[in-house]
Amino acid sequence: SKYDRVYNFSAGPSMLPVPVLEKARDELLNYHGTGESVMEMSHRSAEYQEIIDRAEADLRDLLKIPDNYKVLFLQGGGTLQFSMVPMNLLRKSKKADYIITGNWAKKAYEEATKFGDIRIAATSEPDHYSYIPKCGRDDFREDADYVYICYNNTIYGSHFNYIPDTGDIPLVADMSSSFLSEEVDVSKFGLIYAGAQKNVAPAGVTIVIVREDLLGFADEKTPIYLDYATHAKKGSMYNTPPCFTIYMAGLVFQYLKSIGGVKAIHEIDVKKAGKLYDYLDSTDFYRTGIEPEDRSLMNVTFVTGNPELDAKFVAEAKEQGMINLKGHRSVGGIRASIFNAMPPEGVDKLIEFMKQFEAKNR
Ligand code: PLP
Repeated sequence: SKYDRVYNFSAGPSMLPVPVLEKARDELLNYHGTGESVMEMSHRSAEYQEIIDRAEADLRDLLKIPDNYKVLFLQGGGTLQFSMVPMNLLRKSKKADYIITGNWAKKAYEEATKFGDIRIAATSEPDHYSYIPKCGRDDFREDADYVYICYNNTIYGSHFNYIPDTGDIPLVADMSSSFLSEEVDVSKFGLIYAGAQKNVAPAGVTIVIVREDLLGFADEKTPIYLDYATHAKKGSMYNTPPCFTIYMAGLVFQYLKSIGGVKAIHEIDVKKAGKLYDYLDSTDFYRTGIEPEDRSLMNVTFVTGNPELDAKFVAEAKEQGMINLKGHRSVGGIRASIFNAMPPEGVDKLIEFMKQFEAKNR
């Protein structure tokens, strides 16, 4: 039928929960009797204000975000945060320390060097980003304005299994690819951001959660859109926000609440990833390069050791309705991104396929 769906293992944009897509479909032409689509609605209307307010309130609920944090809905993807973080948070010493655990952290670091004295506190690059360095207070400069980490490394498939102790130094985390897959203690961070197109919504919105006392320090030459304070003062409505994407994010938040919140989805995620890693550990046909304790629940990377065989795997999986299993262009191999909306059946089907592929190609 026209509603037949594939299992999409893409690292983003990725799958959305079917009940969310169905609700959006049902409301698409006439939202709650307004006679218009949310796509067509004025962002200054009372109806839209209700949509964005509810999205924020539900997100605050889901992550138990303390009152002294602002929630911002911004554009520009995760990439713009590579710039906005240093432009806003290098507020005293103009020093920041970065832990480099993959390409996205490295890109953020390189961008930040344009704005201040940026130092690499630790990096696993020489070991092909196969693990997450363990860092504590002594690894950071005492007067650093912030410490930066990428919490889940989408390309390599690794994840921080601890929150670095930075003392009084604000900790900044890119949570783009693990957002809402696990409970996090927001109060341990100065700023958390996440691009939407993995666990939250279609592409087009980036969520920033920032502690209020860190706002208002951007240089006066900072472009108005790039100052967090601009958006914080205006409830993310300084200019036209990505209205429809925020609405979709709101539907995802409502859906997550309806199934029991972040804790409930995390249990499902642990089971899904656990099955896949158990299978990978049980065979020598596929290899995964990440230290077991640092493995990501969202992005599972592996290789057969033969690039041609990897390509064959990706092509044959596609024929069976499992798409986008190709590893990131910078590393190759195979990557199964299994975000919140990937049904457990999708992972079961992948494992079944992996077994058959192994039997035929061993
Ligand atoms: N940070 C992480 C962890 C990512 O996985 C990505 C993209 O996949 C980005 C940042 C860049 O995001 P965007 O494409 O939204 O700029």
